[in-house]
Amino acid sequence: MNKEVPSTEDFYCDFVLNNKIKVERVKETDNILAFHHTKPSYTYHIVIIPKQHITQLVDVDNMDIIKEIFEVAKEIILGNSLHQKNYKIITNGGEHQDSKHLHFHLVSGDKL
Ligand SMILES: [Zn+2]
Repeated sequence: MNKEVPSTEDFYCDFVLNNKIKVERVKETDNILAFHHTKPSYTYHIVIIPKQHITQLVDVDNMDIIKEIFEVAKEIILGNSLHQKNYKIITNGGEHQDSKHLHFHLVSGDKL
């Protein structure tokens, strides 16, 4: 999390989705936003979130949103030819989740 940004339980609702901080958007649909991580852990590090607040994976009632997130992920992977190099997609939950808003990390390249 950025030093300038006060700590919050939900970085995405409190700062990203309401445009309080500017993020470098990669792909946006009516329901999904994908953008470059503000503090990347990998040389290529994208965060994909639903615009609707969902706390974590176990709170998803309608799996259509997960399908849409993975469609966006696939498009980004293909668009950057990550499948010819490497990539992984991670979602954290419970104590491993810093921001309490469902998000997927799409990472590729070297760990920073
Ligand atoms: Zn939220």
